[in-house]
Amino acid sequence: MIISMRLHATRQEIDAVCERARDFGYKVHSIEGEERVVIGIVGVGDVTPCLESIEAMPGVEKAVRITAPYKFVSREFRPERTQIRVNGHEIGGDQFIVMAGPCSVESEKQIMESAEAVRRAGGHMLRGGAFKPRTSPYDFQGMEVEGLKLLRKAKQATGLGIITEVMSDRDVGLVAEYADVLQIGARNMQNFALLKTLGKCDRPVLLKRGLSSTIKELLMSAEYVVAHGNPNVILCERGIRTFETATRNTCDITAVAVLNELTHLPVILDPSHATGKRSLVPALSRAAVAIGADGLIVEVHPNPAKAVSDGAQSLDIPQFQRMMNELAPYVDLWKASRVTKAVAAV
Ligand code: PEP
Ligand code: MN
Repeated sequence: MIISMRLHATRQEIDAVCERARDFGYKVHSIEGEERVVIGIVGVGDVTPCLESIEAMPGVEKAVRITAPYKFVSREFRPERTQIRVNGHEIGGDQFIVMAGPCSVESEKQIMESAEAVRRAGGHMLRGGAFKPRTSPYDFQGMEVEGLKLLRKAKQATGLGIITEVMSDRDVGLVAEYADVLQIGARNMQNFALLKTLGKCDRPVLLKRGLSSTIKELLMSAEYVVAHGNPNVILCERGIRTFETATRNTCDITAVAVLNELTHLPVILDPSHATGKRSLVPALSRAAVAIGADGLIVEVHPNPAKAVSDGAQSLDIPQFQRMMNELAPYVDLWKASRVTKAVAAV
């Protein structure tokens, strides 16, 4: 159950509501905004007596029963879409956001060329891993802090916001100094210590779906971050493991539409990891636009043949430019449909 307190409800009123819920044996979780406090009440059994009791208390605006196990990220809790402002752009708003760049930061020349290309082609953010989750311990593990410094340089040169991966709760503070958005990789989707630490961080989080995770599990992981205090989570479908071997992963494109029904959080697609093949990336990107994703995260490299990771799925710069040009009319339709929906909702 979610209790929305009135604007500027007093501390006494808030505490009294929490106390009452605890008296009924429930766990209480409050999110304190600047003007409004929202209290999540979690527990088992019929909440009706508690709900009726709290509804009548002073300072309470609304008490809502939530059936989904992920409360704060559910549409039931918040019907309007979450919009996340990043470096002058709104993710989840009326702009289709393209994040692009190499899988890994490899050198100053490589990241600067990538950043310039992303900016020229109309991309909104620069991606690039400085901490890399690799299946083999013998593979390149990332440039770490040196990589973060290069990303900062690329931001200074191009004005593009930075999205980069953080793999450990220990590094959240460090990566947050350099990144505008913290990427949580598929392999870390259920690293609960990391998710809890991200809840205390003031940077938006891009949460990638785990290789073998259900949509519900993805939403439960997002709930960890939000319940621990950080409401700015972007979800990312990046393909899942199936019996199919023609592509690196199987893109669950339907997940985008399902998530748009279940949650108010923005949803983007990663067509690079979803396919593992650069030739398939433009077609899947069009599908992302058509199905109503809020954006893309795409791998682009100035020389994919020489890339230290994920070269086969990386577009080169002319290919990325072409894809962006070809995507433009689809994005125009996407924008028109967003505006129509926003007008219909008023
Ligand atoms: C990446 O973005 O380079 C990456 C490692 O992605 P994922 O976690 O989806 O495999
Ligand atoms: Mn990659």
